Amino acid sequence: MNAAANEGFMDYQKLLNQTVQEIKPSGIRKYFDLAHQMKDVISLGVGEPDFATPWEIRQAGIDSLKERKTWYTANRGLEKLCCAISKYYMERFGLCYAPNAEIMVTVGGSEALDLAIRALISPGDEVIIPQPSFVCYEPITRLCGGVPVIIETKAEDSFKLRAKDLAAAITEKTKLLVLPFPANPTGAVMRKEDLEEIAEVLREKEIMILSDEIYCELTYGSPHVSIAQLEGMQEKTILVGGFSKSFAMTGWRLGYALAPEAVLKQMLKIHQFAIMSSPTTSQYAAIKAMSDYEGYIAPMREEYDRRRRLIVEGFNRLGLTCFQPEGAFYIFPSIKKTGLTSEEFCQKLLQEERLALVPGTAFGDCGEGYVRVSYAYSLKHITQALERLEKFMKQFD
Ligand code: PMP
Repeated sequence: MNAAANEGFMDYQKLLNQTVQEIKPSGIRKYFDLAHQMKDVISLGVGEPDFATPWEIRQAGIDSLKERKTWYTANRGLEKLCCAISKYYMERFGLCYAPNAEIMVTVGGSEALDLAIRALISPGDEVIIPQPSFVCYEPITRLCGGVPVIIETKAEDSFKLRAKDLAAAITEKTKLLVLPFPANPTGAVMRKEDLEEIAEVLREKEIMILSDEIYCELTYGSPHVSIAQLEGMQEKTILVGGFSKSFAMTGWRLGYALAPEAVLKQMLKIHQFAIMSSPTTSQYAAIKAMSDYEGYIAPMREEYDRRRRLIVEGFNRLGLTCFQPEGAFYIFPSIKKTGLTSEEFCQKLLQEERLALVPGTAFGDCGEGYVRVSYAYSLKHITQALERLEKFMKQFD
């Protein structure tokens, strides 16, 4: 009997986990399925680099296959890669992490985020999540029986997390603060002085920080500062990084977590049972990436910066105001002047001009009135998209 024939008999709703069923699918994907069904759509929606992984990094992956390196690696990841990550954090941020105790290699930053939340959160624990933000923190928290406590970040604060809002959100049940900067979808960064204020609130508290620094190499003003660099904060921080964004390696699925040994040990256990080890070919490629990180990243960063300036100017000129984002590769303009909701705006724009953006509400309810626009696209593509947008915006003059 096939599955369809079985359906009348099986009560899947009863069988399936209640929390999983209650979780909504990602608002980003939902929207793109719609766009895919249409012809001649151009998109500024996707959150991944348009560059191919630099050739030498791909070559290193190929070489490892030629050398028959097709087996599992150690659960934690290849020693050489853990050492390379350790060296990078020392050189770049002056942070010391022991390769054999405080570092693990994961399937994208995504897995590291999942492991961190699962290792820490028991039913009833509260997780503070600034929004609008990346889509996974809230559902994973819910899957653990945790309670997401949302802090709305605002355009007038350049979408930074304010220390006073954090202080007001903390209760006796707070276990974890998610700190996702540079931010997807807003492009906001937290400078050292902003982080100092956050650290001040947390210094005397037994609360861990999940610092999602996946965009740490993509900043366009001052270099990225990690909260782990501040006095007393490293022991409170699980730092998540990865290769997807900095090295244009999304499809290789490789990231990592850096954390105090006692925490990492528990995360490693979940990884051991759920994953075994991260993709071997990707780990060899990543060793190559780390061998000359600035050499690979700098040209892409410079190109993103050119695109950033073009797109910010373009949106502001059309009255869709956005602040200057200083990190990642997104802008988060306000569409309030159109009188439409984010969803309506995106639907109408797609239907009338075949331009796909992502509604701000995909990143939390407080994203209403905004859209996320990615500039991980060529200057030519962005220019074409701006022309379509200009035509579309005429009706709101
Ligand atoms: N964190 C943020 C803020 C992201 O935007 C993304 C991907 N869009 C990730 C984590 C996960 O990236 P990956 O799993 O590819 O490393």
